[in-house]
Amino acid sequence: MADIKQEIQRRRTFAIISHPDAGKTTLTEKFLLYGGAIQSAGAVKGKSSDRHATSDWMEIEKKRGISVTSSVLQFEYGGYCINILDTPGHQDFSEDTYRTLMAADSAVMVIDGAKGIEPQTRKLFKVCAMRHIPIFTFINKMDREARDPFDLVDELEKEFGIGTYAVNWPIGCGAGFKGVYERDRRSILAFDEFHAGRRRIEGVECDISDTERMDSLIGSYAREELVSQIELLDGASFDFDLQKVRTGRLSPVFFGSALNNFGVEAFLQRFLKMTTPPLEHISGDEIISPFDERFSAFVFKIQANMNKAHRDRIAFLRICSGQFERGREYWHVQADRPVKLSQPQQMMAQEREIVDTAYAGDIIGVFDPGIFSIGDTVCEKGEKLRYAGIPTFAPEHFAVVEQIDSMKRKQFAKGVTEIAQEGAIQIFFEPGTGMERVVVGVVGVLQFDVLQFRMESEYGVRYNKRDLPHQLIRYIDNADLNPAELKLMQTTRWVQDVRGRNLLIFVGQYEIDWALDKNPGLMLSEFNQNTDAV
Ligand code: GDP
Repeated sequence: MADIKQEIQRRRTFAIISHPDAGKTTLTEKFLLYGGAIQSAGAVKGKSSDRHATSDWMEIEKKRGISVTSSVLQFEYGGYCINILDTPGHQDFSEDTYRTLMAADSAVMVIDGAKGIEPQTRKLFKVCAMRHIPIFTFINKMDREARDPFDLVDELEKEFGIGTYAVNWPIGCGAGFKGVYERDRRSILAFDEFHAGRRRIEGVECDISDTERMDSLIGSYAREELVSQIELLDGASFDFDLQKVRTGRLSPVFFGSALNNFGVEAFLQRFLKMTTPPLEHISGDEIISPFDERFSAFVFKIQANMNKAHRDRIAFLRICSGQFERGREYWHVQADRPVKLSQPQQMMAQEREIVDTAYAGDIIGVFDPGIFSIGDTVCEKGEKLRYAGIPTFAPEHFAVVEQIDSMKRKQFAKGVTEIAQEGAIQIFFEPGTGMERVVVGVVGVLQFDVLQFRMESEYGVRYNKRDLPHQLIRYIDNADLNPAELKLMQTTRWVQDVRGRNLLIFVGQYEIDWALDKNPGLMLSEFNQNTDAV
């Protein structure tokens, strides 16, 4: 058991979040480089080139040059076993991103130093804040003209309502970027040369009290400015408090340049020390420690066809406690039956490997013959754990999707149902119509393109799609009510989900107000209160 404890203790599982183009991929790549997991930078994702892409798996991603799904990478560094959850930055895939954040124990927020907080960062931050997980900030691209560092940290504090603690401080920016000052050591790491980061940068260390050497490294002007900035910083900033960091109330801030490989390893080392080992999870009124001997995990993501040759479907499980052993029989709580997790695998940089054991904190992908749904719990036989907390976000765009070829009725139904189980889309039915016509709801409109692409390429089905103007969806909570008898505005539609629950979709808030006004006693509830989507 001691070994298992040690294994769990050294695990660090985190998500990297950012607005597109802030440098998330570049930073991830540098982490892997330090971990020895990849041989050269530039191997993770090729946006416009033909380099092999680890995080991108679907053709549509290549075409659009964006990362549609999140992927998981595991590597070793400095005695730690690191699981990085990559999240798509594109706003249309936010739901997938949110779910991924449920599987992380902390988050690294990458911010472009010239831009500061951007819309996507703001949204993602909110999800992290909701879970009170530690959030680390990496302010990137300091080799370019950047905003004043005081301004940047001020913005973080004001907008996000958290404290910040600058662990290092930039010396200039753009062409005048000379390196970073490390507050814990009171010394600088001078930027000795620019290069594209294909190897490690050591930098030149120098104690800031060594004026002469400082001047020769960064010049007297930059030194004087740094000294006065540090005085200001030491006087005004929050004190470092690990407890606050670990509960998401104080964000350690680092400045650097991912592309130039500067400040990255220093960041990684400190981050690993400050962040937490796997966190506890809640099942009903029980708190399950990661060190609990009983294995337990939940499904946070389902992904189809990662490997086109195999047409497979993979359920990603976050292990919450204990040790996973390949070949053992576990219990699938929602299905109420035993389950063998077949072909368990982890992503090791660019390779998918079959794993025999995995520990709390790890993410494993298992072959899914269509039995899992997002949020499902897997645990030891005889246990009845049930992890909550995978939110389903209310769709904001709707369309009627109707099959064209009646010979392909089965494939159509199978396709929309399976894709809905993965959580990429929500499907609804209009009472009285069959499976040949469904109302599809999505969080981001790009998901409609993904649906079309996958229906054609995986299920061989084409369909007609008609966009609906509806934007809001509510459950009808009155069990004994016949929705056909409700007085509704003409545009309001009554639909049912796969479990037969009644919902209404509305074009705008005024329609909801109208329905509530005209139907006394009608009870409507928000869609995202429901945690079991499909
Ligand atoms: P992502 O969309 O957040 O994954 O961003 P990428 O890592 O793909 O980076 C977006 C662009 O910014 C790419 O062209 C990178 O080469 C560039 N970039 C990333 N980090 C830096 C940096 O530190 N300095 C500069 N100048 N460019 C960077």
